[in-house]
Amino acid sequence: MQTYPLIIAGMSVPAGAHFEVRNPADGSVVGLAPKASLADLDEAVAAATAAFPSWSATPDSIRKAACHAVADTLAAHAEELARLVTLEQGKPLNGLGSRWEIGGAQAWAHYTADLELLPKVLQDDNAGRVELHRTAIGVVGSITPWNFPVMIAIWHIVPAIRAGNTVVVKPSPYTPLSTIRMVELINAVLPPGVVNCVTGDNEIGAAMSTHAGIGKIAFTGSSGTGKKIMASAAPTLKRLTLELGGNDAGIVLPDCDPKAIAEGLFWGAFINNGQTCAALKRLYVHERIHDEVCDELVAVARRTPVGNGLDEGSVLGPIQNRMQFERVRQLVDDAVAHGGRLLSGGPPPDPEGSLFYPPTLVTGLDNGVPLVDEEQFGPALPIIRYADVEAVIARANDNPNGLGGSVWSPDIEAATSVARRLRTGSVWINKHGAIQANAPMAGVKQSGLGISFAEEGLQEYTDVQVIFK
Ligand code: NAD
Repeated sequence: MQTYPLIIAGMSVPAGAHFEVRNPADGSVVGLAPKASLADLDEAVAAATAAFPSWSATPDSIRKAACHAVADTLAAHAEELARLVTLEQGKPLNGLGSRWEIGGAQAWAHYTADLELLPKVLQDDNAGRVELHRTAIGVVGSITPWNFPVMIAIWHIVPAIRAGNTVVVKPSPYTPLSTIRMVELINAVLPPGVVNCVTGDNEIGAAMSTHAGIGKIAFTGSSGTGKKIMASAAPTLKRLTLELGGNDAGIVLPDCDPKAIAEGLFWGAFINNGQTCAALKRLYVHERIHDEVCDELVAVARRTPVGNGLDEGSVLGPIQNRMQFERVRQLVDDAVAHGGRLLSGGPPPDPEGSLFYPPTLVTGLDNGVPLVDEEQFGPALPIIRYADVEAVIARANDNPNGLGGSVWSPDIEAATSVARRLRTGSVWINKHGAIQANAPMAGVKQSGLGISFAEEGLQEYTDVQVIFK
C-alpha cells in the first residue's frame, strides 16, 4: 500500500504519522495520507513565504506560461488522477465523474492562465494621474472539501499563483491523496515552494486560519466551517473567499414539457450523487404538471446505473463517507415520517454496511421539513407541488442559503423575470449548476463571501494599490 508524503518546498517530505484513506465503494484502504503536525504546517508556510518574493516578481508572461503548464500536467496525468479520485472519492470514472472532473480542472487552469490583471488609469488630467495596480497578497491557504478534490484545489491554486501568490493547500481528510499527487506533479513545472500541500485532520485547517504567515484563506466547504474560519481569521484580518453550502431551488413553470426537462432536472440534482455545492436540492413543480414530472424523473432514476466507480458502466457511485450517508438517511426517514412519499430509492437494503444509497425522489413535502429546508448534500431530492408562482418565489427565497437556483420554462422571458427575483448568486434557465470558468460565482446570504472564477475571482487574490502621481 502506498504511503503519501507532504509536499513542501518542491520536495516529497515523509510525515511522522499517517492515517488511512478508504474507498467508499468497498471500504478497502486506498493509501496512507500524511498526518501533518503543526510544525509541518509552519514549514510549509515558511517554504511558501520564502518562494513569494521571487514568484511575485516573476514576469507576468512566465507566470501565465506556468499556469498553462499546470493544465498540461493535469492532461498528461489525467487517467492516473481520475482513477485516484474514483478510488478515494467514490465517483465513477465515467459520466459526470472523475474523468470529467480532471477535464474541468484543466479547462479552468487554461482559462485562468489567460486572464490579465492590467493596471487601470483612474484619472489623467492637469490635477494628476491616478493608477490602480493589483499586487499579490502573499501566502494563500487553500482549504478544500471532499466532493471535487482536484478541481476545487485547482480553482484555488491557479488564480492564486497566476496573480503572484504562493500557496499551502490542505485537502479534506476524506480525499487527500489525489490532491497530494496533483501537487507533487505540478511541482515539476513550478519553482519550489510556490505550491505546497499538507494533509491532516480539521485541526490543521483551523491552524491555517489563525496562522500569522498566511495572508488569505480560500475556503470551499460547509457554511458551518466557513463561519468558524471567518471568526478565527479575524485577529489577523486575513482576506477571505468563502464558497459555502447551498440549498438551490428549482422552479418548474406550468408550461414545461415534462419529458423534455426530466434529464436536465435529474442531473442538476444528482450530479456527483447530489454531493455538489450548486446542485438542485429542492424542486418546486407546478401542480398542473407535477405528477408527469415525477413520473419522468422516476424513469431517469430507474435507468441510471449505480455501482463501483471503477466499473466503466457506473454513472453514480456510493456516498463518500459514513457521516454523510447517515445524514441523508436521517433526512429521508424524517421526510417520510412527515408525510413524504418515496417515488424511487429510499433506504438501501444494507444500511449498516455499504455506502451505496439509490437515487431517491420524495414528494408530498413542503418548506418546514428538514429535507427541504436544509442542505442534504446527497442523492435525495424533495419535490414540492405548488399552485401560485408568487408564493413559490417566496418559498424558494425563504432559506439562509443563496448559492444558485433555476427556472424551467420554454418562455425564456417569463423564466428570466422569475430568475431575477431569486436571491441567489447564480440562476440557470432550463438547466442547473452549469458553472463555468468565465462566469463569476458568488454565493449570497450564508452561501459565501467573495467571488470565484473569471476576472472578478482573480482579483480576490490581490490587494489594490493606488498610485497618485
Ligand atoms: P467541511 O466544511 O466539513 O470541510 C471542508 C474543509 O474544511 C476540509 O478540508 C476540512 O478538513 C476543513 N475544516 C474542518 N474544520 C475546520 C476548521 N475549524 N477550520 C478550518 N478548516 C476546517 O465541508 P465538506 O463536508 O468537506 O464539504 C461539503 C460542503 O462543502 C457542503 O456544504 C457543500 O455545499 C460545500 N461546498 C461548497 C462549494 C461552493 O463552491 N460553494 C463547493 C463544494 C462544496
